[in-house]
Amino acid sequence: MKNSILGFHHITAIAGNAQRNYDFYTKVLGLRMVKKTVNFDDPTTYHFYFGDEVGSPGTILTFFPWAGARPGQDGAGMATEIGYSVPTGSLEFWKDRFEDKNIRHFQIREKFGERQLPFLDPDGLKLCLVEAAQRDDRKGYATHEITAQNVIKGFHNVTLTLNFIEETAAVLTEIFGYKKVKTEGSFHRYGTDAVENAAFVDLFILPDAYRGINSVGTNHHVAFRVKDEESLMAMREKVLQHGLQITEKINRDYFYSLYFREPGGVLFEIATDNPGFATDETVEELGSTLQLPDRYESARAQIEKALPELKQ
Ligand code: ZN
Repeated sequence: MKNSILGFHHITAIAGNAQRNYDFYTKVLGLRMVKKTVNFDDPTTYHFYFGDEVGSPGTILTFFPWAGARPGQDGAGMATEIGYSVPTGSLEFWKDRFEDKNIRHFQIREKFGERQLPFLDPDGLKLCLVEAAQRDDRKGYATHEITAQNVIKGFHNVTLTLNFIEETAAVLTEIFGYKKVKTEGSFHRYGTDAVENAAFVDLFILPDAYRGINSVGTNHHVAFRVKDEESLMAMREKVLQHGLQITEKINRDYFYSLYFREPGGVLFEIATDNPGFATDETVEELGSTLQLPDRYESARAQIEKALPELKQ
């Protein structure tokens, strides 16, 4: 849909040890590393992208591994849980897998009429596998170990913890075109009809919650998806008209971005589908070698030396 928000583009979180982060997301969850690059604002830190085979928007979870940094703390003004869509009937497979591999997980629960299996990554980041109520035809990245029957298809929902609902809900409904779907206790689900999947934002309202501390094991920002740069700039106008501040357009090599902080404190990004991840390497090669933006290419040797070793 023209000039609409098309659900999630990517979510970015902070990890600790790079190898441990890589091993968990590729070997335990079975996601594909679709890009290995550096933080464009700090090339001494990796930037990992995990997603489906081609890095489709709505499947991409990215990390800055900050080795040795202190743990963060979930709280108000943060995305505090990421929900992945999995096929109906697959939660038992995942529960067994988590038990085998000593992955911290919780009881299967029901929320918004959907079965969910909450779990933690090695840095304590909260995630959840969800047997989504609506159809999800996305293919994920199936392998012989995690077949199509159980594969993670991409994002389903993201939970934002907030002290108040009104102003954040207004950003979703008035700027992004989302609608209130359902309320369950302190959780308020918002969704968009513009896409079939990766479409739900759940607002978790805790009036007395302390602000979160953004460091290892917490989310840094949530990026929403638009089709192209024209839609991106139309969305920028809407954010400005709403009275919020927003950055200029930033070239992230694999997409174009804008950033703004919504009034509840969560950092939002808006990112384009174009040009995508298969620009500096082919689909087959995605994630296999360190990719650097042009401005760092001349310093490649020093950058590679400063980054921790990663066994893939
Ligand atoms: Zn981002």
